Amino acid sequence: MITRIRLRAARHPATPPPPGGGPERPRTPGGPPPPKPPPPAMRRWLLPVAVLVTLLLLILFSRSGSTGANYGYTDFLNRVGAGQVQTVDITDTGGVTGTLKDGTHFTSQIPTALDTSQLSGELAGQHVDITASHSGGSSIWSTLLLFLPLLLFGGLFLWSGRMAARSLGGGLSAIGRSRAKIIEAERPATRFADVAGYEGVKQEVSEVVDFLRSPERYAAAGAKGPRGVIMVGPPGTGKTLLARAVAGEAEVPFLSVTGSGFVEMFVGVGASRVRDLFDEARKRAPSIIFIDEIDAVGGRRAGGTRLGGNDEREQTLNQLLSEMDGFDPTTGIVVIAATNRPDALDPALLRPGRFDRQVTVPLPNQAERAAILAVHVRGKTLAPDADLNRIARGTPGFSGADLANLVNEAAINAVRADRATLTADDLDTARDRVLLGRRDSSNALLPEERHAVAVHESGHALTAALCEHADPVAKVTILPAGVSLGATEQLPEAERHLYTEGYLIDLITVQLGGRAAELVVFGEGSTGAANDLAHATGVATRMVREFGLSPELGPVGYSSGSPNYLGDGPEDLFRRPYSEQTQRAVDEAVARLLRRAERRAVDLLREHRHHLDELAALLVAQETVDGAVVLDILRHPA
Ligand code: ADP
Ligand code: ZN
Ligand code: MG
Repeated sequence: MITRIRLRAARHPATPPPPGGGPERPRTPGGPPPPKPPPPAMRRWLLPVAVLVTLLLLILFSRSGSTGANYGYTDFLNRVGAGQVQTVDITDTGGVTGTLKDGTHFTSQIPTALDTSQLSGELAGQHVDITASHSGGSSIWSTLLLFLPLLLFGGLFLWSGRMAARSLGGGLSAIGRSRAKIIEAERPATRFADVAGYEGVKQEVSEVVDFLRSPERYAAAGAKGPRGVIMVGPPGTGKTLLARAVAGEAEVPFLSVTGSGFVEMFVGVGASRVRDLFDEARKRAPSIIFIDEIDAVGGRRAGGTRLGGNDEREQTLNQLLSEMDGFDPTTGIVVIAATNRPDALDPALLRPGRFDRQVTVPLPNQAERAAILAVHVRGKTLAPDADLNRIARGTPGFSGADLANLVNEAAINAVRADRATLTADDLDTARDRVLLGRRDSSNALLPEERHAVAVHESGHALTAALCEHADPVAKVTILPAGVSLGATEQLPEAERHLYTEGYLIDLITVQLGGRAAELVVFGEGSTGAANDLAHATGVATRMVREFGLSPELGPVGYSSGSPNYLGDGPEDLFRRPYSEQTQRAVDEAVARLLRRAERRAVDLLREHRHHLDELAALLVAQETVDGAVVLDILRHPA
């Protein structure tokens, strides 16, 4: 295998920890918590503005209230007597507001405790215009009026908070409440015909369609239908599309969520969302539940050694597991999940009765790429010189999404040139743009990288074919998958329970064969062998330390406590049961084993240099080569 490595961006581990390892930490730390959207900008301004407006109103009011003079009662009486007063308004508590004849406003207060009955005569005598009003009413209204803006702004503040919370998927107030409305049920119009290629995959999921169409038939026969299907494959290979197509073909509701959507800030919400999801699905059964990126919830649970950590995620996962166990298999609910990191999944998820069906959705091969291109040029006009097969040949490692993007880019090119037909040139330009522009996020390889990957994989394949004890080669491919850019598959003839020293040495040699080929052809190694080296070192270390298979240490075995399958033992440096000197001897013995294996691989490949070049060229041309073909090539005269 050859692995991709990113030296700058540290987003991914450079090499995947080999599968089947001992207790490991889950690699998705809780899944990304949904980022809290910033409160709308207006929200920040609401309070200050409200306070300002209220203050302004207060000032205005007190102004209007105190315009003019405030006369004492005697003064007021005198002015009435002098005939200066034009109008008065008297409240039932004796408050007086009025105007003088020269237009000035004034206020006063009648001492209601005294007998002021002569005042009315006085006022009437001077022909003053009298009105009366309720003191209480006016003051309540004016206070209300004063606080109205504050109330309004307060309301607006609360409302904007609600909105923000809703866009977040529920605020604090939504904890524990039913979230069913967030889970959308739809009836997709997607059909299998919209998914190009992948006949094998469609075959496998058609059983699900069959079950969903008539779950009662399964019930009548006492058969359990499929419960969970997990689709595994690199991003953009159409997993979501396939899941929708299953729902479309079966004509059932499609409830979809993403794994990261489950994992939220508040403990318990993820689990309750799982419950809601299954409730909703039961209501609509037969139906499909689709969980995208299930690795975000379904990652391996910690072995109980860590404090704190991802309680929330584990609760969510446990809830998911119990829901999957709990539902009546005849109700007709099928859970489809998608991931591009199957190795990160908790084994409990893959147990029978849960996601017991794994469907691999690989990157499309050349014929499938042509078919996908054909699906996406539907409804567009192609110039006669545009040949989809040629484009398919030139786009190894492109996913369905990359190809869809390519066609769209080509159409945009055509629009820019004021054409309605896509020419071969448009497609070529678009391919280059996708290849170069999106390389970081897509699997597409540069031509020289393709050659390097082909050489590396050829090295594995040839050493495997040449080493006596090595498992036979089943397939060599330079189709990238996840972090690996290519792979050599070996299939053991029978399952082994016991490994001889010769087998282990050949195993290491084959693992170093990729790097050896790079050394032979290019004269230098590359980062691509990192995973191979780690694996080979793991095996060599166990040979020396546990299996007593080195002359230096002799028949000593320091068990690492991990099960005796081949693979990496957990490095537990703090519980080493031997001395520093022994560690040094182990290190030296391991290095010697590895160096010897590398020399052997290099010698083998030098001897078969012609075969190496031939196989690499074939891989570049065909992407995938069968094990039988590798043996064929070795029969050619060197
Ligand atoms: P995934 O879920 O595996 O990441 P998607 O299902 O979201 O990928 O696919 C992204 C897009 O790529 C789809 O919407 C579709 O346009 C295109 N695509 C992928 N595979 C195919 C295919 N086999 N046939 C047609 N279109 C495909
Ligand atoms: Zn390799
Ligand atoms: Mg998807």
